[in-house]
Amino acid sequence: MQNKYALVTGGSRGIGRAICVKLAEMGYGILINYKENKEAAEHTAELASVFGVPTELLCFDVASRADVKQELGGWLETNKEKTIEVLVNNAGIRNDSLLPMMSDEQWDTVLDTSLQGMYNVTKQVLTPMVLNRYGRIINIVSLSGIKGMPGQVNYSAAKAGMIGATKALAQEVARRNITVNAIAPGFIKTDMVAGMDEKELVNIIPAKRFGEPDEVADLAAFLVSKKAAYITGQVISVNGGLYS
Ligand code: NAP
Repeated sequence: MQNKYALVTGGSRGIGRAICVKLAEMGYGILINYKENKEAAEHTAELASVFGVPTELLCFDVASRADVKQELGGWLETNKEKTIEVLVNNAGIRNDSLLPMMSDEQWDTVLDTSLQGMYNVTKQVLTPMVLNRYGRIINIVSLSGIKGMPGQVNYSAAKAGMIGATKALAQEVARRNITVNAIAPGFIKTDMVAGMDEKELVNIIPAKRFGEPDEVADLAAFLVSKKAAYITGQVISVNGGLYS
């Protein structure tokens, strides 16, 4: 595993942090991307380091192509002996509003972070992965991108776009031993759902509870493992039985 790295965008908090820790446990060096929360990213690094793997922080805004090119492209250029074998496109935001009231900024920032962010980061990492003839890409989408959620036209569109890209890219790179899958969480206890009425919302969830970040990370770890080599182009839900 020496010199084999997993890059997790939005690895500083929530689901991304849980995935960083699981992949560290599998023996991967961890590249923790974050946008502004350096302290949280450092805490993720501490948790991952427990497994004796190298960790590095990479600060860039996934939505900014220039930023991604400079920071991630720069890292790739100066670390040629290292291989990014796993990419988890996890960074995402929500900014809900009914469409008539939605500002252009609300539309743009949500799509730019999830959908353009996935493109910007994957574009940097894919060619080395193809040349290496091995890789694992996981896109964190959402129930909202499968079902569509009122008040989240922007977020549903971003995540549905990622699902389409997952299915298309999986077919492009399957022969190179690269799998591309999407994980679609329902309600998971992170900062993203803080402020939501959990007591009320659990009534619509068959499992009657919100999920834990670790329950998403466990699936990510399986999809990264060698055992999942024949699973690609799939969207797998982790949602306690909600419609999907
Ligand atoms: P979270 O706790 O709010 O964490 C978001 C993470 O994304 C943070 O690490 C944040 O970095 C990073 N991030 C945000 N914008 C970024 C940008 N432009 N560039 C780089 N990093 C950025 O969210 P979460 O709940 O863990 O969500 C993770 C993913 O799961 C998202 O894609 C979300 O849409 C998806 N999801 C979550 C749920 C849920 O119920 N929680 C359900 C379905 C899907 P900083 O710390 O620097 O801000």
